[in-house]
Amino acid sequence: MKLDDLQIVLVETSHPGNIGATARAMKNMGLCHLTLVAPRCGIDETAIARASGALDILDACRRVDTLPEAVAESELVIGSSARPRSLGWPELTPRRMADMLGECADGQRASLVFGRERSGLSNEELQFCHYTVKIPTAPDYSSLNLAMAVQLLAYEIFVRLQQENQPPMDVPREPKASAGELEGYFEHLEQVLVTTGFLDPAQPRHMMKRLRRLYQRIGLTRNEVNILRGILSSVQKYRKS
Ligand code: SAH
Repeated sequence: MKLDDLQIVLVETSHPGNIGATARAMKNMGLCHLTLVAPRCGIDETAIARASGALDILDACRRVDTLPEAVAESELVIGSSARPRSLGWPELTPRRMADMLGECADGQRASLVFGRERSGLSNEELQFCHYTVKIPTAPDYSSLNLAMAVQLLAYEIFVRLQQENQPPMDVPREPKASAGELEGYFEHLEQVLVTTGFLDPAQPRHMMKRLRRLYQRIGLTRNEVNILRGILSSVQKYRKS
């Protein structure tokens, strides 16, 4: 993929300085799409000062109310998190993350999501991410400043995507399903699993979380999602008849 296919998403940022410093870090590394999810501060003088020569990125930044809205167009969503997660979300190193982005075909879109200064990303928000990435740190102090985390990950991506001699993709790749299309599939799947009795809504036991993890990991194409939804519809018709 190209640097232009990646957006940086900041969730509920509280400090204007971090938004400005993020814009600068992005511009240094050739990234230009910034999305703010429900920011808790405005873009003030501090943000402008910290952005330095990257005011164009602040001017063009998009604001949305929710994370699903921010990532709906992305085929790959990666959440950056300082904490290990209990459900064992697939966790990448920064370099592996950059390789994965490098392996995506041009025109596939990706989002790299960053959490709040105080509390990071919630487990619910991580549900919308296909992978997490953790920057290795000293074990007793793993939380970096937000803009510094953006800088490090953007650097890895820049270095990887600038690499020469990438083998040309001779096989045309099918378009991947977007996050919005996957959400549609998960809702449909849950409905069917509840009607067949496989899933007890009173005792869901993380079943949907596990299924989401499975499907997000394998990188479904749009056609594959359509096939899976067709199967679900056939189960619904069968039960009715
Ligand atoms: N105290 C929070 C960390 C907030 S730091 C927590 O425990 O989760 C703000 C954001 O910077 C995080 O949500 C994450 O997106 C990013 N970040 C900070 N340190 C990181 C690290 N070591 N690896 C990956 N992302 C990190």
